[in-house]
Amino acid sequence: MQEYLRKIPAVNRLLQNEELKNILSQYPQDLVVDLVNQVLDEKRQMILQNKVEATYLDLSEEGLAREVRDVVLQYMAPRLKKVINATGTILHTNLGRAVLSEQAADVLTQIARSYCNLEYDLEEGRRGSRYSLVTDLLCRLTGAEDALIVNNNAAAVLLVLSTLANNQEVILSRGELVEIGGSFRMHEVMKASGCILKEVGSTNKTHLFDYEDAITENTALIAKVHTSNYQIVGFSQMIENQELVELARKHQIPVYEDLGSGVLVNLERYGVSHEPTVQEAVAAGVDLVSFSGDKLLGGPQAGVIVGRKKFIGRLKKNHLLRALRVDKFTLASLEVTLKHYLREEEAMEEIPTLRMIKLTSDDLAPRLEAFTQQISKQIPSAVAHILEGFSMIGGGSLPLEKMPTLLVGVKLANLSTTDVSICLREAQMPIICRIQDDELIFDLRTVLPEQDREIIKVLIDISQIVKK
Ligand SMILES: *Cc1c(COP(=O)(O)O)cnc(C)c1O
Repeated sequence: MQEYLRKIPAVNRLLQNEELKNILSQYPQDLVVDLVNQVLDEKRQMILQNKVEATYLDLSEEGLAREVRDVVLQYMAPRLKKVINATGTILHTNLGRAVLSEQAADVLTQIARSYCNLEYDLEEGRRGSRYSLVTDLLCRLTGAEDALIVNNNAAAVLLVLSTLANNQEVILSRGELVEIGGSFRMHEVMKASGCILKEVGSTNKTHLFDYEDAITENTALIAKVHTSNYQIVGFSQMIENQELVELARKHQIPVYEDLGSGVLVNLERYGVSHEPTVQEAVAAGVDLVSFSGDKLLGGPQAGVIVGRKKFIGRLKKNHLLRALRVDKFTLASLEVTLKHYLREEEAMEEIPTLRMIKLTSDDLAPRLEAFTQQISKQIPSAVAHILEGFSMIGGGSLPLEKMPTLLVGVKLANLSTTDVSICLREAQMPIICRIQDDELIFDLRTVLPEQDREIIKVLIDISQIVKK
């Protein structure tokens, strides 16, 4: 053991190695020294703990220098990077949810590289409000009187509850005590906002009289939460917005609906089940409606709140808003996204989320044929074929919606499907796909058309590594 420990070179000596001198000239010196220490420490621990037979360890200066070089390069390589989503889940929370439209993405680099009028009124030559940049667009699109943007929909829920119902009671149906990913649970958010939750009804049925019976002089708000990531089916009943609004008006209590996804177009026209639109909630008289910017809307991460001027005004005065405020990038790309919606056909074409929803099996077929043919032609060891299956909307939207689609199944001879999927994930441009019946499944619905070729290239590379 001592013998092997003695073989490990001193840090300063290793730093004299040509390979590392080269690395030192390109990367921060402190970082390289730290990583040299880390690599040498690892070797020392391996020897002391007898983890591997010490004879197998490469303790040569050249070997260690190469290892340090790789560790430095890996440390400095981009960590948040583009990946190819071949899973068919359109709003994949782990893969960054909505992809921005071309124009919404372009505006980001322009705004980032220059000063902008974020809070400057160019007509008046004085301080302006960042929120006014998109207010009129949101009002036009949803029919609401006023609007406000915060960091995400969770922040919107927090702001609404703590502004309108701090220390007071909020009525919510037991069927809507939602939990969404990332440990956001409605009853916990209520607590954090200083509200007293008054649960009404049962899990599967809530009647209008349940709401009515729960109203006291301490009731500040009636809340509705869209059960975006689950559905209660069978013997069930929830109260329609209109009825609830009528009851609330009688008692002069505002109604707030957390819509979750919040679509602006009627998705039924495109072959998907009905998802309540923001316009419908506003038209039913709901006083405040909130929804995400990066779910079905297809824009940047944001929480959009629309509704009556009186209540939006109160939200704007809450000091919490300063902690939840959006930056110039969110506003810039949200503006472009909202403008697409001024013409529905444009929104359906330009916003990737909607474009992907709209795609039919017939639309996808020619692309899949070409993809499958290329794989069969270029990779002798591959078996590729087209099969029927389903895509998902994801992102906690329309959980039961299975969109019929065509998929490509691929299997490489002499290689386990799991191993290939690991290689795909570890590629320069990582590719995430599904595995089903021991085959790789590619759903091109969520793959950007220009990425088809990249998948084929990586599959070729993988099949060749194995040959060697
Ligand atoms: C997704 C969702 C949220 C949270 O929205 P984020 O934009 O992810 O913060 C809140 N409520 C419901 C019902 C949701 O579906």
